[in-house]
Amino acid sequence: MKVYTGIAVSPGVVSGPVLVLGSENFRIPRKYVSRDAIDDELHRFHAALEHVCRDIKNNEQVVSAQLGAQYGAIFSAHLQMAQDPRLIREVEALIREQTRSPEFAVSRVLRSYAEQLEKMGDRYLCERALDIFDLEKRLLRQLLGESREELRNLTEAVIVLAHDLTPSETATLDTRFVLGFATEAGGRTSHTAILAGALEIPAIVGLGRCLAGVSGGETVILDGDNGRVIIDPDSETVARVQDMQVRSEKTSKRLGLMGSLPAETQDGQRVTICGNIEFPEEVRHCIKRGADGVGLYRTEFLFLSGNREPSESDHYDAYCRVVEACGNLPVVIRTLDIGADKVPQLLESQFSKTQNPMLGLRSIRLSLLNTPMFKRQLRAILRASIHGNVRVMFPLISTLLEFRQAKMILMDVMEDLEDEGIPFQRNIPIGMMVEVPSAVILAEEFAREVDFFSIGTNDLIQYTLACDRSDPAVANLYRSGDPSILRLIQMVLRAAEKYGKSVTVCGQMSSDPRFIPLLLGMGLRSLSATPQAIPRLKEVVRNLSISEAVRISQHASSLDLARDVEHYLQGELSRLCPDLVDTVGF
Ligand code: PEP
Ligand code: MG
Repeated sequence: MKVYTGIAVSPGVVSGPVLVLGSENFRIPRKYVSRDAIDDELHRFHAALEHVCRDIKNNEQVVSAQLGAQYGAIFSAHLQMAQDPRLIREVEALIREQTRSPEFAVSRVLRSYAEQLEKMGDRYLCERALDIFDLEKRLLRQLLGESREELRNLTEAVIVLAHDLTPSETATLDTRFVLGFATEAGGRTSHTAILAGALEIPAIVGLGRCLAGVSGGETVILDGDNGRVIIDPDSETVARVQDMQVRSEKTSKRLGLMGSLPAETQDGQRVTICGNIEFPEEVRHCIKRGADGVGLYRTEFLFLSGNREPSESDHYDAYCRVVEACGNLPVVIRTLDIGADKVPQLLESQFSKTQNPMLGLRSIRLSLLNTPMFKRQLRAILRASIHGNVRVMFPLISTLLEFRQAKMILMDVMEDLEDEGIPFQRNIPIGMMVEVPSAVILAEEFAREVDFFSIGTNDLIQYTLACDRSDPAVANLYRSGDPSILRLIQMVLRAAEKYGKSVTVCGQMSSDPRFIPLLLGMGLRSLSATPQAIPRLKEVVRNLSISEAVRISQHASSLDLARDVEHYLQGELSRLCPDLVDTVGF
């Protein structure tokens, strides 16, 4: 039995036979062509290119129709690449001037582009290099007549294990047969990861080298909750997982009913549970699960999936779709949180190379430096505010001055709209993310000025414990249960209570059922989580009383090691919701 660990990007536990897709190193049979065949070879290249462009356009339409325009936009970027005149000229030159074969020329030119991106050492750019490899594969498949038929002709349920899946392959996976997938390559922000979440199939990326030892057909367990792939599990593990799956089905049925039930404790305390989204299409995932609104709309994905800077109307259209789908339910629109690991290619030039991008020019810092871009977004948020219950939130606030500047720019935009006679909600609530320790230390000062707080534990943990949230080498330090984190959350809750301001926790900590009793016991009454987690969170809330939560939080706060806190909370969750713990296997 072999166990590989990667980045869990879409939850769920499945088992089945593995279908292995190799790294698809196409064998290029001829490097040169004869001089008198050059015209024919150029024609062959253009025919292949045309075919590929048609395919991409088709992907764009199918994906836009199925998942929405934001996902389709991934393919507009591919199309733009495929039609880039410089790239086409370079391939043509290799064929015409060096008598290279079209296969060789395509591979040489595209790989040189991809390598340049990879060498820049930036995770986002490395992931864009994968898009170039995708284009290379499409062209080679066309020229060489090869295709990954395996994925198209499935007749039985499989778990796909691949070096990498391109966005097009992921978006068109036949979810009747593909139980889940895991890839050696890829990162959290890759399009493949984003699409896996949207399709809601269990998925893991970034496993590292593991394909060499798997030939296909072996039984595999894919644990999308914990990012583990178990190959050839021993009989004990198989039995445990099968048992888990039977109970998981029962649990899913039960959890499916949670959508219509209120998140209310045994002693009648109503808890607000909203959903976190990246794309407008995900609102339906929230509504389906009975969310109380959208507690975090990560608008930067509008930049990350497009091939040009979004215009005011792009922003406005996206926000209106979310706001209108939510009716009267609140929608917290967070302004752009670009930078660090989320750098769109089109804004590359604004990011200086830095040793510590997590500590550099990101998020609100970037918006404050690029006022026209910031104002475009704020105008769209304000205009959308008349269509529903909109709140605006600034990310990564680390000083009072930053918050005041951001608010001042918002006021400027309001004045502009007023002058232009454009309606908006003047009393739109203005909040901030609390995700930098300085914001916690000054929470009382901030509480006088904000309408609401939202605690971003993902960043708060990394900045408090000085460990990169995406670096597996320091994962043992990166813990929501660290006593320092519990204390910081308590500080924010106290400051907010003193000034009568609301607090939500929207980092991943609030998607983890173990932490719900602790957070409610501390006084938190509002959570925003990944849509898939909402039914589980509701179940924990409904099995709990506030007095019990207070007892749990008091005991957890008396412990001085993260590991002890988490172990204790795990035990309490097992007691409160035994089925949940058994099936999800925390
Ligand atoms: C957070 O930091 O907890 C958060 C919700 O923001 P993001 O994950 O988008 O950085
Ligand atoms: Mg954050």
